Amino acid sequence: MRVQEATASGLMQIHVNQIPEEGLRERATYDPAALDMEREDIRLLKPFEVDAFITKAARELVVAADIRCPLHCACARCLEEFDSSVEAKALFSYAVHPTDVVDITDDVRQEIMLAYPMVPLCRPDCRGLCRVCGQNLNLTACGHGAP
Ligand SMILES: [Zn+2]
Ligand SMILES: [Zn+2]
Repeated sequence: MRVQEATASGLMQIHVNQIPEEGLRERATYDPAALDMEREDIRLLKPFEVDAFITKAARELVVAADIRCPLHCACARCLEEFDSSVEAKALFSYAVHPTDVVDITDDVRQEIMLAYPMVPLCRPDCRGLCRVCGQNLNLTACGHGAP
């Protein structure tokens, strides 16, 4: 296992007994390389950030997370690569004992992957590739096909 800088972060190691009454604000930067989050058409080339507000009740730890994750996608129509991002707000809650240590990494990972675009498009009106000659029709019209 490789050592990540983010290991020091409070979001990977939330000690329930260290959360004050008034709650705790934490920020973490995650390295996606270690999290196996890529899809055939979506790559994660940059670290992503999570801002969280952590509160606890009697037996519950609640984490309100603000996630910003840069994506590098391949367009489903023209195959060009482009930068995109996922921005998500999530609320995680955990049943806990006072001595527990909670790591929200898995939940953050899932939240991001659920927010991936089903069909990544470089732009909503991407014209795609010509079926006859393969020309990227966003760049030039090749004259094949219907008007
Ligand atoms: Zn495209
Ligand atoms: Zn063509």
